[in-house]
Amino acid sequence: MAYIQFLGAAGTVTGSKHLINTTYDSSGKQGIQVLIDCGLFQGQKEWRERNWQDTPVPAREIDAVILTHAHLDHCGWIPRLVQEGFRGPIYATQATIDLCSVVLPDSGHLQEEDAAFHNKKGTSKHSPALPLYTLEEAQDCLQYFKPVTIEQTVQLSPELSFRFVPAAHILGSCMAEVIVKTNGQARRLLFTGDIGRVRDSEVAPGKVVHSGPQQGESADVLVMEYGGARRQHRGSRIRRRTHAEIYLHVERTDGVGTDSAGPGVLRQSDGDQGRGNLLEALRGVHARGG
Ligand SMILES: [Zn+2]
Repeated sequence: MAYIQFLGAAGTVTGSKHLINTTYDSSGKQGIQVLIDCGLFQGQKEWRERNWQDTPVPAREIDAVILTHAHLDHCGWIPRLVQEGFRGPIYATQATIDLCSVVLPDSGHLQEEDAAFHNKKGTSKHSPALPLYTLEEAQDCLQYFKPVTIEQTVQLSPELSFRFVPAAHILGSCMAEVIVKTNGQARRLLFTGDIGRVRDSEVAPGKVVHSGPQQGESADVLVMEYGGARRQHRGSRIRRRTHAEIYLHVERTDGVGTDSAGPGVLRQSDGDQGRGNLLEALRGVHARGG
């Protein structure tokens, strides 16, 4: 049976890593293991320390990474994954790859500087303090990136394919729509990544990315991160209501994702009505500014 494991962005909004495993059953038949995003935990020490933990399945057994966008909380752990033995393809849009070729080596450089600082000041309990990964290791991992165009369907195995859907967040950002076929039944999983704003007037509000998902998309399982309605964009009075709608739907999932920050999953059991309403609310976030 296929399942999703949330390895990050649960109880926090950093360290995004969602592992899809299509391993069928106890018969020994192997499926495919795909990681959606591979983000760095950031913020408080208790979260940052998780960057030093291994993945629950060996990194070399993960077949592929699908990357939604180039923010470090979604891509910043990739050099560490490669350091641990991952050698599969990392699928992303060309713009995301271009951004990663800058932000990942920069992140490696900062990790090295941090370690050097702690060694100089003697402020680490480790001697010597080591970087999570180096600039060179970050450059090395770029060889595994594979460009995918928006709307192009990529078949990773007989039972799993995906395509990117525009997310209107940052340059190159996309949602990942994954189709998993098990027992002759196809399920559509939509991983939103971070969601941005689409153009709601002729005058751009200081953003360069306006393209969001089209009407008519649907999903059997929707996975999104939710950080709480603490910010409100100018001119989007209706946003609080939209957030409330989304939160209400997420709370219906038997406790999964009911934290104020963490992934929420809307399952098929919520019915067509629930899914339709949530996707409608999501489009509302795009249209009104989310
Ligand atoms: Zn982001």
